[in-house]
Amino acid sequence: MDVCVIGATLTRRDELLTFADEVKGFMPRNEGLALTSFGELETDQDLTKTWLEIGSWCGKSTIYLGAAAETVGAVLYSLDHHHGSEENQEGWEHFDPELVDPNDGRLNTLPSWQRTIGEAQLEATVVGLVGHSSVVARHFDQPLGLLFIDGGHGHDVAWADYEQWTPKVVRGGLLMIHDVFADPADGGRPPYEIFLAALSSGRFEAIGAEGSLRVLRAVR
Ligand code: SAH
Ligand code: MG
Repeated sequence: MDVCVIGATLTRRDELLTFADEVKGFMPRNEGLALTSFGELETDQDLTKTWLEIGSWCGKSTIYLGAAAETVGAVLYSLDHHHGSEENQEGWEHFDPELVDPNDGRLNTLPSWQRTIGEAQLEATVVGLVGHSSVVARHFDQPLGLLFIDGGHGHDVAWADYEQWTPKVVRGGLLMIHDVFADPADGGRPPYEIFLAALSSGRFEAIGAEGSLRVLRAVR
């Protein structure tokens, strides 16, 4: 779908990336654009086109990855229990009262996420998986061509995501990890620890970085 704006043609890609700016979330634009650009490299016809992100929130990163998935003909599963992480709860740093469900007083990002994907017209490309990451992982056997880890950042949750999901990435596939900070002053340890674990496992090599985003490729 092309839209003409003051003489310039806004492509479908531009449109999606502009729309991502309006979506609530925790994905700086430069890092989001890196998600899109690395995803767009995945055109290898032999590699599985099943992708998965852990940590949907309101769909901001989902748009960046979804734009690439649409381009390369992949399907992106977007996994979240939609009740937020610890730091999103009332009294914590990243609490947003607008996201509380008045019926039960719980945080619920599913309606926002679903609206985001609908407005972006990405419903043929993006599929929501609502549940706890470790429960879904135990019942998800599909090999992944791309895995983006941006779920819970606590020690146990981040390590469970690493241990349960990274083995599903096929050789040649991409592993992306968000909120990787080498300096503890900049952020929590677990995403950095699992990034180091991926490197030292010998299964992955680092191929790119943008802000706190790290991109690795499975070499075996
Ligand atoms: N990628 C998002 C931000 C994700 S925030 C963006 O671009 O804005 C982290 C998300 O992980 C939260 O929505 C939280 O609900 C989810 N999460 C945390 N622990 C989880 C778990 N164990 N299983 C599923 N989702 C989880
Ligand atoms: Mg993040």
